[in-house]
Amino acid sequence: MSTSERPVVGSLENECPVDGRALSPVPITRDLVERVHDARIAQPAWEALGFEERARRLERAARSIVERRAEAVQLLHDELGKTPPDALMGEVMGALQFVRDYVVMARPYLRPRRLPLSPLAFPGKTGQTELVPRGVVGIITPWNFPLATFFRPVFGALLCGNAVVLKPSELSPRVGAWFGRVLAEVLPPHVLEVVQGGPDVGAALLRSRIDAVTFTGSTTTGREVARVCAERLIPVSLELGGKDAAIVLSDCDFDRTVAGVMYWALTNTGQSCGAIERVFVEDPIADRFVDALALAVSRLRVTGDPRTSDVGPLANARQLAIVEAHVNDALAKGAVLRCGGRRLGVGQWFEPTVLDRCTADMLVMREPTFGPVIPVRRVANAEGAVHATNDCAHGLTASVWSRDVARAEAYARRLQVGTAYVNNHSFTGAVPAAPWTGVKDSGTGVASGVFALNHYTRPRTIAIDRRDTPDAWWFPMDARLEELGNRLAETLLGNPLAAVKVPVLIWQRERSVMDLVRSDPQRRSILRRVVSRLTSRRE
Ligand code: NAD
Repeated sequence: MSTSERPVVGSLENECPVDGRALSPVPITRDLVERVHDARIAQPAWEALGFEERARRLERAARSIVERRAEAVQLLHDELGKTPPDALMGEVMGALQFVRDYVVMARPYLRPRRLPLSPLAFPGKTGQTELVPRGVVGIITPWNFPLATFFRPVFGALLCGNAVVLKPSELSPRVGAWFGRVLAEVLPPHVLEVVQGGPDVGAALLRSRIDAVTFTGSTTTGREVARVCAERLIPVSLELGGKDAAIVLSDCDFDRTVAGVMYWALTNTGQSCGAIERVFVEDPIADRFVDALALAVSRLRVTGDPRTSDVGPLANARQLAIVEAHVNDALAKGAVLRCGGRRLGVGQWFEPTVLDRCTADMLVMREPTFGPVIPVRRVANAEGAVHATNDCAHGLTASVWSRDVARAEAYARRLQVGTAYVNNHSFTGAVPAAPWTGVKDSGTGVASGVFALNHYTRPRTIAIDRRDTPDAWWFPMDARLEELGNRLAETLLGNPLAAVKVPVLIWQRERSVMDLVRSDPQRRSILRRVVSRLTSRRE
């Protein structure tokens, strides 16, 4: 049955967050098991194409994404309310560079490695370890960077020779469908299957016959995904939420720091796992810093149209409700509203917001807000800021802003995060060679860099024995074997004289082994007598 003939029941209904208009429905996948089966059947031929051909095809796919960027930008506007520059720079552009850099990194990493084997302990043997694809990788993604969160796992898994079953978020299925169509033009059929639906389809994918899972999403869902994968004993890579801190020291480059903190807190309307969601500022510059930040944020354009706005709407009503709840909780607990704080017009618009005098007990300082809100907490000194940064369930990225780079770097090394920055934030999310990873509730996965390839491959060793004699350590267990073991141990400990008798012992042992299994008992006993007489004379 072709994909278009398959049965479909129900569809995903979404609204455009810009103006609330209904978007075209997307059919929910009802034949997931068959899709996974098709991907499994297609995988060996894709693997057999070889690394260079797979790399060529993926580069062509990435080129198509960049060439067709206007389509992608329009979809990202319609489905998520992204401003065109955010969509272009934060999502589409990365595709081509990602594939190019990944190919260069992966080529040497995926080459077979010769197994070092001691000729004394393993005579006549050779071996090599190859990194082979896992098979079918299930990839479950969130809505906040729908395209960018496809690139890392989908291109990585395909490059290694896997087939992929991708489940985009139910809140951004159209971008997922578009991505699938563009890749289908260069991939063999079924090597990439896109399945659509909500948590139930994600759960069904986890229970289907897949061999590994890459999950990007919230910590709560990540725990559930990890539980299911543990039951199934399949590897899982978890890229989860963040609550990133920026530590602003008194000696920072003031204006640049205000601009940098504002950008990294509000880009993509704050809906980034690596967004600045907590600002710790040293007391001596706190008044001036908050004044400047609030002034700059209030100058950002929020017009009701992403094409003329600096900050777009939130992507969906669920996210807007969380943002409002966090702001209201902070205000109820004594935070000072310096700008923003309100919904705007139709759609999911919320004014970019600065909250001063925030405290550790506020939701906005503890839980992912994922919105255009900058909460500021004043601290006595950098030590207090480092302590407060680490006093958090999440640990994705964090930054220290100071003119004294060496001092800032020393603080950066003490932050419990996957990536720590000095005088910038989160930019390595777009760098294919940089491992994107976190600690604590931010998950156990590594999303890019060569380390990520371990998740998409498994080591398989082929070991070959070319001798026609048996191994000296096979049955029977006897005193000569014990002596051989002791002499090998002495040799390892650095006594070269111990090795002198090893070849004779091996020769004797090989004969004992064969003697034990000979079918002709007459020959066996004659041989045994001759061998033992010869050796006892020598001894
Ligand atoms: P989410 O956890 O609600 O959903 C993520 C995906 O999981 C969706 O496709 C959803 O349908 C699916 N899903 C939900 N329940 C499932 C289940 N029981 N079994 C299988 N699949 C299930 O997250 P979200 O709201 O879509 O995304 C936002 C979150 O993603 C934020 O917390 C953000 O920090 C995080 N994120 C992390 C990174 C990273 O690299 N660390 C990148 C982007 C987003």
